[in-house]
Amino acid sequence: MASWQWQARDFLFCGVCGTLLTFDSVRSASCPLCGFKRKAKEIEGKETRYIVTAEDIRRELKIDPFEEVLVQRPVITKSCPECNHSKAEYYSRQMRSADEGETTFYECTECRHKFTD
Ligand SMILES: [Zn+2]
Ligand SMILES: [Zn+2]
Repeated sequence: MASWQWQARDFLFCGVCGTLLTFDSVRSASCPLCGFKRKAKEIEGKETRYIVTAEDIRRELKIDPFEEVLVQRPVITKSCPECNHSKAEYYSRQMRSADEGETTFYECTECRHKFTD
């Protein structure tokens, strides 16, 4: 079945940080980035019993969860006061004091300068 082949391939990636595991020997593989280790035996037999989630592994290894949040911000036409580039990403943030309301921030797509209106 195609589904377990996909999972087996998925198993070659670090469950913690998603980096491709390096085989130290025929018996084990480890993550070059965070040192997470996995036995080759587990990889072979995994089609029947791999249901461990990244969350479980983090808990087991006591690693703080770090999520890479890739949010695509909308880009609008706005000229940058720093470099005069005409496009900026924008996002709004609730200010700490309620009466300030929401402030819209712009970030130049060219020089990453952040500015407000
Ligand atoms: Zn890793
Ligand atoms: Zn700029």
